[in-house]
Amino acid sequence: MNIETKCLHAGYTPKNTEPRVVPIVQSTTYVYDSTDDVAAVFDDPTRSLIYSRFANPTVMAVEEKIAALEGGVGAMCTSSGQAASLLSLLNILKAGDSFISTTAIYGGTINLFAVTLPRMGIECIFVSPDCTEEELNAAFKPNTRAVFGETIANPALTVFDIEKFAKAAHAHGCPLIVDNTFPTPILCRPIEHGADIVTHSTSKYMDGHAVQVGGVIVDSGNFDWTNGKFPEFTEPDESYHGIIYTKTYGKAAYIIKARMQLMRDFGCYPSAQSAFYLNLGLETLAVRMKQYCENAMTVAKFLESHEKVESVNYPGLESSPYHALAQKYLPDGCSGVISFVIKGGRPAAVRFMDSLKLASNEVHVADIRTCVLHPASATHRQLTDEQLVAAGINGGMVRFSVGLESIDDILDDLRAGLAAV
Ligand SMILES: *Cc1c(COP(=O)(O)O)cnc(C)c1O
Repeated sequence: MNIETKCLHAGYTPKNTEPRVVPIVQSTTYVYDSTDDVAAVFDDPTRSLIYSRFANPTVMAVEEKIAALEGGVGAMCTSSGQAASLLSLLNILKAGDSFISTTAIYGGTINLFAVTLPRMGIECIFVSPDCTEEELNAAFKPNTRAVFGETIANPALTVFDIEKFAKAAHAHGCPLIVDNTFPTPILCRPIEHGADIVTHSTSKYMDGHAVQVGGVIVDSGNFDWTNGKFPEFTEPDESYHGIIYTKTYGKAAYIIKARMQLMRDFGCYPSAQSAFYLNLGLETLAVRMKQYCENAMTVAKFLESHEKVESVNYPGLESSPYHALAQKYLPDGCSGVISFVIKGGRPAAVRFMDSLKLASNEVHVADIRTCVLHPASATHRQLTDEQLVAAGINGGMVRFSVGLESIDDILDDLRAGLAAV
């Protein structure tokens, strides 16, 4: 199946007289004919369903669809993108370990990596997304066991050089984890470029309609967990009758371990109802992503030629320092989020924002409706003008998430907003 077809058909194939649409199985529990059947499923939870804290038929249909879209051997949904980032790492790391991440990642992920994981004894070594191969290789320590980056960073809009980071990670016996939220598998499939694990906040384009918060972890099945660095995969798990994940589950060791250990213990699994909404979004993902890219490119070019705009940041523009990487990794488009700086700093940006009629003022991005955020008044509100400059945020900067309205209406709204400045 091609990717457009997978969006509609992967993960659920109804049999004779079964519902055409994936059913919402809103049940915590599943029944068994005998005590022996229950015992067997506790020996190997992949054989059947036990409890909706870590497996549910509606959610599993969506997991299979996303694994197919990314080209992985399996996937596990989580109750948020943050939970996906956390579990993707906790499945590999323990207190005393370190991992490498670029600094160009989502703000919530920065907080998780820089503040919360260190409290659990896990160190994050930050590197610049633009570091040289020598600098990257020098960042590894003997206890480093994973590398993390974001395909198109939210909100920096840098493009991650997946192959460069995969090469360094693999040379050090570590897996590469890529947060692929902004491109979605329609625009980039990191596994094809050497990523071992892919994560998403499904709250963004995958859902697209802003109706559910969710996340997902996809396992490529390609990483060799038996290289000596990962005893949790190759030694018996006493919490599961001595199962050895790499022996029993082969290529799917990582994703099955994540479900059997972490989802069992942390329980951050989405509800069937949420997975149903996510599936509706996924069905139209291929069509929507094409239109987001087309609308965003038109908006980026319009802004770039506008006299009241100081600069535009969009990897699809030739003026972007990430244009070459975008052409390599994102040949079909760079998604729908743009950031730009209005001349006149903070007051000009506020005036522009408050004059928009169509674009709504929201903290969300990647919605089907155009939305806009002024970082200096919202996510970075506590900072003074001087601190903003130090943090690399211009008071005049606006983050614009282009929606699927008529491009003429979006441009009219922008024209009116800029005219008010
Ligand atoms: C939003 C976002 C997250 C966090 O996801 P939630 O679903 O909000 O928990 C992680 N990574 C990226 C790139 C995001 O945009």
